[in-house]
Amino acid sequence: MDIYAVFGNPIAQSKSPDIHLQFAKQAKQQLEYAKILGSIEDFAGSLSEFFDCPEAKGCNVTAPFKQEAAKWVDSLSPSAEFGDAVNTIIRNRDGTFAGDNTDGIGLVKDILANGVEIKGLNVLLLGAGGAARGVLQQLAKQKPSSILIANRTAGRAVALANLLNVPSVQGIELSAAVLSKSTIDFDIIINSTSASLSNKLPDLPDGLISSARVVYDMVYGKELSPFLQHANHLGVTKVIDGLGMLVEQAAESFYLWTGVRPDTKEVLHMLRNQI
Ligand code: NDP
Repeated sequence: MDIYAVFGNPIAQSKSPDIHLQFAKQAKQQLEYAKILGSIEDFAGSLSEFFDCPEAKGCNVTAPFKQEAAKWVDSLSPSAEFGDAVNTIIRNRDGTFAGDNTDGIGLVKDILANGVEIKGLNVLLLGAGGAARGVLQQLAKQKPSSILIANRTAGRAVALANLLNVPSVQGIELSAAVLSKSTIDFDIIINSTSASLSNKLPDLPDGLISSARVVYDMVYGKELSPFLQHANHLGVTKVIDGLGMLVEQAAESFYLWTGVRPDTKEVLHMLRNQI
């Protein structure tokens, strides 16, 4: 039987096994999918040990190992190379290992699945950490009018924007004082910061939030994140959490491993009822 796994530290919270086992059920495939607590001291050793088993065909990688995984693999897809981060490892037929990053496709597919076309929109992307790096290239491919990356540490936002090196993508400090001077009406705000995990709100002017058509937070949970609740209170009706992104990025990994595209709607529905 083919074996897959997700590596992270911590890892107990991961929903990936539930998602992939549902995908496998749909595809009528038998596979095992484990949660593995990666070693902080020797993550490469954790990966090598897993892939010593010939049935191990691939794995997902989550925080804090995505960058180390990019160093471990033999080749990188363009999106993994851009983000310098790998969330999916594929064992090739010749025994080499390919690294990919499906977070960007996951985000874009989820936004589109929620009925929002990114083309022509002004996007405000909050955060410039691993998640923002992982999604920026795919977001830009949708041809929005502009993407402004706003990060607490302004230099990281500017450095990330510079990677794309196009005038429509810029970096700026994430602060209400700075953003209140912006003349752009943002159509969609995407929160890729981890602020919601500590119940904090990104420092934004209320008017900038209330004029957005869509507010997205990559974080998900039983309740709406503080940021999505705040946007709701300010009158934004279309708020979307990151659960759909999680399922969509997993579906892309499953496709890379098996060649089968799962029905994500059904699995998202199941997961929504579980959390
Ligand atoms: P990183 O640690 O790489 O980056 C964290 C980012 O959040 C940085 O830009 C940091 O700014 C910013 N930040 C942290 N706290 C605050 C705050 N209080 N106010 C403003 N900005 C803050 O994390 P990741 O990028 O890997 O992950 C970010 C979030 O995205 C996590 O919550 C993660 O769970 C979620 N995620 C969801 C996915 C999904 O499938 N739904 C996939 C991937 C990630 P600074 O640079 O100034 O420190």
